[in-house]
Amino acid sequence: MSAPEGGEATTEAARRRTFAIISHPDAGKTTLTEKFLLYGGALTTGAGAVKAREGRRAVTSDWMEMERQRGISITSTVLQFPYRDHVVNLLDTPGHRDFSEDTYRVLAAADAAVMVLDAAKGIEPQTLKLFEVCRERGLPLLTFINKWDRPGRDPLEVIDEVEQRIGVVPTPLTWPVGLAGDFRGVVDRRTGDYVRFTRVARGATEAPEEVLDAAGAADAEGEAWTRAADELSLLDEVGASHDDELFRAGETSPTFFGSALTNFGVRLLLDAVVDLAPSPTPRLDEAGKERPLDAPFSGLVFKVQSNMDRAHRDRIAYLRVCSGRFERGMVVTHARTHKPFATKYAHSVFGQERETVEVAWPGDVVGLVNATEVRVGDTLYLDEHVAYPEIPSFAPEQFSVVRVRDTGKAKQFRKGVTQLDEEGVVQVLRDLDMGDQAPVLAAVGPMQFEVAVHRLETEFGAPVELSPTSYTVARVTDEASTTPLRGMRGVTVLERADGTRLALFESRFWLDRVLADQPDLTLDPLVGNAMVG
Ligand code: GDP
Repeated sequence: MSAPEGGEATTEAARRRTFAIISHPDAGKTTLTEKFLLYGGALTTGAGAVKAREGRRAVTSDWMEMERQRGISITSTVLQFPYRDHVVNLLDTPGHRDFSEDTYRVLAAADAAVMVLDAAKGIEPQTLKLFEVCRERGLPLLTFINKWDRPGRDPLEVIDEVEQRIGVVPTPLTWPVGLAGDFRGVVDRRTGDYVRFTRVARGATEAPEEVLDAAGAADAEGEAWTRAADELSLLDEVGASHDDELFRAGETSPTFFGSALTNFGVRLLLDAVVDLAPSPTPRLDEAGKERPLDAPFSGLVFKVQSNMDRAHRDRIAYLRVCSGRFERGMVVTHARTHKPFATKYAHSVFGQERETVEVAWPGDVVGLVNATEVRVGDTLYLDEHVAYPEIPSFAPEQFSVVRVRDTGKAKQFRKGVTQLDEEGVVQVLRDLDMGDQAPVLAAVGPMQFEVAVHRLETEFGAPVELSPTSYTVARVTDEASTTPLRGMRGVTVLERADGTRLALFESRFWLDRVLADQPDLTLDPLVGNAMVG
């Protein structure tokens, strides 16, 4: 690799790949993450380390306990490991649809995403939302079709489904030899080579690979090879080939077949992340101006998580470095409040495990502990002012009124609700007249409510009750439209802490009627309802 022109930050950024893995729960995200660590040489204890860490986390935090019970991940972690001459930053996302907003925020910090699909299940209805949010951000997307070691579907059928359901054209870079369940190896379409895999016990070490040419492959695999070769000519005919520009625009997705469990295809995927996914580039600020990579330090907060650790009751802001060199201890400026912010407590965050970070570069993620006033979407910078655009808020689909059960706990209740709002656990909407009395919690799905209720009770000592409302669709409105909207049946207008007004409708049908009757009203879509809308 020739050294890029520019300063040290540009050079360091060019070595970095920062991406998120998204998948439906159980498709194999955790297993693939472990295997990436294995191939990155960052996992010496064999498979199971990520799960084991999750287990430990569950002991120290209330809501991790919920995760363990439900077998899903609500929180995210960030992993960093070296691979070849690169630094890989892997951002985990919660797999469940209900936490799509969280995934959306994590994607704001990623330069690419890897979508993991279960070969037998393809695109599951619950997953669609997650991929829609990815599509909405226009992120370059790689696809890994996992569990090919098990009986599953026809590979052409699977890629066809990806194209139909999420509107991204898969461009397979590898193609499986052997039907799902009888997985022998993959053809690397870029070279035409056949990569034959050998199983190792429990997938505890890298899977040995043997590279054969077409003649050798035909000899070794017989009919399985012929079938794969036929399918490949079909792919060539339809032109499903990789195109860097279309991939970077999020239109096509380089696709890989494999089995995370047996390590088959993991190296090829990780190589592709390094070879194809873009490195961090200058980010646009609020005014649409680029902040050069070599400008002084700046970063974007994409996630805030509190009370991860019962013993500490702290608040961690996850910051993606966007420009310059981050150095622990430097005093930066919080763009929203213009206040100084000391970065003495900067960590890398591997789930619950923290290590002090001394230096970080564009693309890296730093966890800032005790970031009391910092919220999702905030910018921190050194010397030269910059503010990045806020992460647009997501369209909630469920709305429940929340009330404290014991009025003696009203203070704790208010504090808890404000904090959950700032963390983005749920959105908090207030009645224009009633204010704090009985706010409405807005969420994409019911599990967000569960987390909120659980945390209000266990962390803030404010047991609450929720009463569902009949609203299902939200749109952004303004002051001028508020009075006419409030006069209508089946519509209400509520306000977020930042002053944004949301109009809520009982049904999509009703919203369409209102839009048709009164086209002058302001009713703008939010992220996540723009697509279906
Ligand atoms: P996550 O919920 O997406 O993180 O999924 P996990 O990585 O926890 O995997 C869910 C289940 O699928 C576990 O029992 C894994 O052992 C299994 N699994 C993951 N990858 C593979 C694979 O390639 N082949 C098979 N047969 N099972 C797999």
